[in-house]
Amino acid sequence: MQTTFGTGQPGRENTDLAFTDPLTGLGNHRRFFDKVDRLISDRADDPAPFTVGILDLDGFKPINDLFGHKAGDDILIQVAMRLRASMDSYSTVCRIGADEFAYLYPMVFSEEQAAEKSRMLIEILSAPYDVGERTARLSASVGCSLFYSGDETTEILVNKAETALYHAKRSGRGRVVVYTREMEEAAKRVTRIEQALRRAVSAGEVEPHFQPIVDLNTRRTIGFETLARWTDRDLGAVPPSVFIPIAEERGIIGPLSQLVLRKATEAARNWPKDLFLSFNLSPSQLVDQNTGLHILAILDRTGFDPSRLEIEITETGLMTDPASAEKIVGDLRRVGIRVSLDDFGTGQSSLGRLREFHFDKLKIDRAFVSSILDDRPSEHIIRAILAMCEGLGMDVVAEGIEEEAQADRLVQFGCAGGQGYLFGKPADADATLGYLRDSYRGALHAKAI
Ligand code: C2E
Ligand code: MG
Ligand code: MG
Repeated sequence: MQTTFGTGQPGRENTDLAFTDPLTGLGNHRRFFDKVDRLISDRADDPAPFTVGILDLDGFKPINDLFGHKAGDDILIQVAMRLRASMDSYSTVCRIGADEFAYLYPMVFSEEQAAEKSRMLIEILSAPYDVGERTARLSASVGCSLFYSGDETTEILVNKAETALYHAKRSGRGRVVVYTREMEEAAKRVTRIEQALRRAVSAGEVEPHFQPIVDLNTRRTIGFETLARWTDRDLGAVPPSVFIPIAEERGIIGPLSQLVLRKATEAARNWPKDLFLSFNLSPSQLVDQNTGLHILAILDRTGFDPSRLEIEITETGLMTDPASAEKIVGDLRRVGIRVSLDDFGTGQSSLGRLREFHFDKLKIDRAFVSSILDDRPSEHIIRAILAMCEGLGMDVVAEGIEEEAQADRLVQFGCAGGQGYLFGKPADADATLGYLRDSYRGALHAKAI
């Protein structure tokens, strides 16, 4: 954005309303762009690089919801004060979005220095905030870019910092990422996958596969987890660990999930009635209040009994917007759908969540199971989880069992349910039906699917 502002009178600049954020008193978006524009023209004859950073507060929305908007505003003011206090006389910080701040470090010349100074800002923001009688904590993510050549405009620099910020957010909370060229390549690849996935979802080309979940004592199959599979003509087989996060970020997860659930329930409705079907819900679906309605409409259409369906949600899914997640989960449980907590032990939840939410089942993450034989801490953690589940009346499934010895150890600890390559890899609907025919020896209706 190009602005025409510039009186040359420093005193007036700060008070000009069009360039000031009314809440925090910091400069606003226009002011920031103006500052960077000017520095770029100053540096036209000076080879020294400089740094632009964009800082975004992590999880500000839930804080706003929990403490109220007035408190949210107070926190933003405190954030602004801390940021301003940490700037030296050359540097500038502005508020450029609701919970987004941008800063300019004219004297920071290297990527290492940019990352170090940004980490310091995150550190400063991580100290508790006073909200009336209570305190709140926040983390922040940062993306930085460095100006190296006169070809770059403010817009390009800020876009690069935004791309870096996007990478920082994707890799977790509280991270700093400095822009590199590879990121641009990665961003292009994500866009290619996104476009191919949109096409595949509207053409109905994403398929459910099914992985058996067994009773560890009898080895009998008690249900199946639905896992989405997608093979693109040009890209080949794209793993869900790649396309699910892209579907979430780019708003495709709703239609993708509905497609997979429809196909999965069509396949599973003729399986023996004592088998359940579990289905993964992404964090963003737990923020969308239409999710429950969509699931119920699909079950209605395919004639699948809701009491045979289980949904799997992760700890991260609960964190984004706990109130919304609770409402969706409540609606689903009311019609008999069971709810399990997936990948337990790897997320960022507090045990308190297990008190607030009622889960029917907990799935112990593969990370603990794969190290159960040679790692004492994993063994202790699994035993503690099992004791806790017993106390809270939750079923348990251990994920990622690959070896007999792991299954034996889990049985010895009292774990009732298991899933993993040892019992079966995810397979498509036809192969799963074949597997069931073999294990039920004709008890299954031949007309299935
Ligand atoms: P998840 O829900 O935790 O699913 C279990 C993952 O572990 C699956 O990976 C499964 O193939 C893999 N797995 C199972 N047993 C073993 C084992 O013994 N060893 C090893 N190494 N891996 C095992 P997959 O299919 O690649 O899916 C990855 C993740 O993608 C899933 O993790 C789930 O979070 C997500 N996902 C898959 N399908 C869907 C879907 O339809 N909707 C949503 N929202 N997420 C999905
Ligand atoms: Mg799962
Ligand atoms: Mg899992």
